[in-house]
Amino acid sequence: MSNTVTTKIRMYRLHELGDCFLLSFTSASHKSHVLLDCGSFRNSNKAVKKIKSIAKNIEGIVDDLDVVIATHQHNDHMSGFMHAKSDYERIGIQQVYLSWLDDPSDKLALAIAKKHDKVKKQLADMRGIVKSKRGPVIQQIRAALDTVVDGLTFSDDNSMTGQATQFLKSAGSKPIKYLSPGEILQVPNLPKDTVRIHVLGPPRDYPTIRSKDPRKGESFDPHLNSILFSIDEFTAALDVNNPDKHFPFNAKYKQSATNKYFKKISPETTKIARHYATEKWRTIDNDWLYMAERFALHINSYTNNTSLVLAFELVKSGRVLLFVGDAQAGNWRSWETVKWEDEKNALELDTMLRNTVFYKVGHHGSHNATLKGAFEKMTNDELVAFIPVNKEDANIAKDYRPWKMPAKNLYKELKKSTKGRIARMDEGKIRYSSNNWKAGSLKVAPLYIEYTIKD
Ligand SMILES: [Zn+2]
Repeated sequence: MSNTVTTKIRMYRLHELGDCFLLSFTSASHKSHVLLDCGSFRNSNKAVKKIKSIAKNIEGIVDDLDVVIATHQHNDHMSGFMHAKSDYERIGIQQVYLSWLDDPSDKLALAIAKKHDKVKKQLADMRGIVKSKRGPVIQQIRAALDTVVDGLTFSDDNSMTGQATQFLKSAGSKPIKYLSPGEILQVPNLPKDTVRIHVLGPPRDYPTIRSKDPRKGESFDPHLNSILFSIDEFTAALDVNNPDKHFPFNAKYKQSATNKYFKKISPETTKIARHYATEKWRTIDNDWLYMAERFALHINSYTNNTSLVLAFELVKSGRVLLFVGDAQAGNWRSWETVKWEDEKNALELDTMLRNTVFYKVGHHGSHNATLKGAFEKMTNDELVAFIPVNKEDANIAKDYRPWKMPAKNLYKELKKSTKGRIARMDEGKIRYSSNNWKAGSLKVAPLYIEYTIKD
């Protein structure tokens, strides 16, 4: 017979984009606290202050943290472990779970890290080159590169996420666990089979990985390979010492709009050329640098796709809490192919989705981080959705190409499936349908929004 359990899920309200969830399980006299991610997108003073008060709040609830999990290496999921490092050291962590991609003894993870580092290094170099250019287009590209490059993690570097990963690797008093899809774990310090964790992602069984072809064989996904290829071409084109190498014409055929060449042809041509020269928007001089911005966004989605995806099964009731990190389509699609190591306790994916009563919305509500087919299977009457999004985040609030979080259509679907039971980090009052929340299940405080599930 399984034990009843009360689950409290506290979504901390960060200053900008970011995830920080504290799961507290109580079964009879047993308690277990799991912290899932802690990070804030930018490292502004305000953000850091918020992170510190969150750590203080956690300290007030727990004796120590039974498990700390970091889903993937992005600032908005990990920077808090550095900003509040001394607090976490004081609180104490029993065990850390990271994904197999962080495992230094995993050959595939190492091969991927090597390739990944190369892409990131090239992006960092690219930023160096772009910095020396001028113009309004450049501003935007620089901003995009800054966002990505500053948040990049190399396997052994000194970035915020790199440091946080290193800290977590040695933070637990018990040996660290690197999780792979197909594993089923017990939430520690609760009676056996009270809460089980099913690991769904990140995937490691891409067919390309098994391929003997060295080019493909090194690749986690072919997508990354193609980015790498394009980046090679792009950085070659940026070669300042040999700028003509990759242009379709020889240098002598290139003409500046103001030079003498046009005069030779006719006064009319000179006029046209001058006209173009004064209207900067007609020139394409720096537009090609937009590619840099696209690479930056690509590599960002790639890292999102390495998110740990965990389904917490409250065994007695069968309810499931689904935490997908920032997993994007590829990660979601792979769940169908997961082979469970403990077949007896394995949940069918469809059952898991049907029994999901708590969905931590992927990637702050962006359009490609909740796969339609899977979400449509989350048909449980009790379903609620929590979105760690803050509309005041500079990337969401900006006028030019703002990040669409949460995405409009996804938000509509979430509203429908949850009967309006959506909690957002940036909403002190829960809009739409406060009556649809089960009485006493929701607590909204300045620092967090907490949801309680009782057996
Ligand atoms: Zn994120």
